[in-house]
Amino acid sequence: MAFIFFGLPAEYYIATLIGMGLSLWASARVKSTFHRFSNVGVRSGMTGAQAAAAVARSGGAQVAIERHQGFLSDHYDPRSKTLRLSPEVYDGRSISSIAVAAHEAGHSIQDVKNYAPLRIRSQIVPAANFGNSLWPIAILIGLMANITGMIYVGIGIFTIGVVFQLVTLPVEFDASKRAKLVLAETGIVATREEAEGVEKVLDAAAMTYVAAAITSILQLLALIARARNGR
Ligand SMILES: [Zn+2]
Repeated sequence: MAFIFFGLPAEYYIATLIGMGLSLWASARVKSTFHRFSNVGVRSGMTGAQAAAAVARSGGAQVAIERHQGFLSDHYDPRSKTLRLSPEVYDGRSISSIAVAAHEAGHSIQDVKNYAPLRIRSQIVPAANFGNSLWPIAILIGLMANITGMIYVGIGIFTIGVVFQLVTLPVEFDASKRAKLVLAETGIVATREEAEGVEKVLDAAAMTYVAAAITSILQLLALIARARNGR
């Protein structure tokens, strides 16, 4: 995400370093929380794949569920209506597997319910991807030619990416909320201990998105500070 592009203002690199620290902390926490609860089973004895299917079905979403390589590579693909679950999640019969699987199924429910932040997020993706390679060029030209307006053009393009990170937050929190609700309703998660475990796994996962959002806001502020201090 945060890629190296030489010649940008020092403030930007400082913000990026802080953001990388936050992201490393968040992803280490996800891994340790996932591992901790992957040793804890649930009474319903379901696998992640079974839980995902049950959650999606009860939310009215028709999805295919596939096993997908990679640790915590789980995601929902809205184009093919497919839930891709990593082997540990797909086959696991643990709180961690069920939490992650149900969260991804939560995204499929958002899709079928036409949940606005998810729709907005999908619409921003192309512009955010395009802008990602464009904003540093605009800022570099602005700095080199000493055109403050050009720096602000770069900042404007960068802001699309910030909006994308911010819209991701309600999408992620809502998927977890839907997951927890359906897990409780269907009895897949039956005890308070199980529910608390699911909550911890999903909260840790959500923090990675919070870290990414904070990073992009810090980077934006750094760029604005540099433009305002421009000679
Ligand atoms: Zn998600």
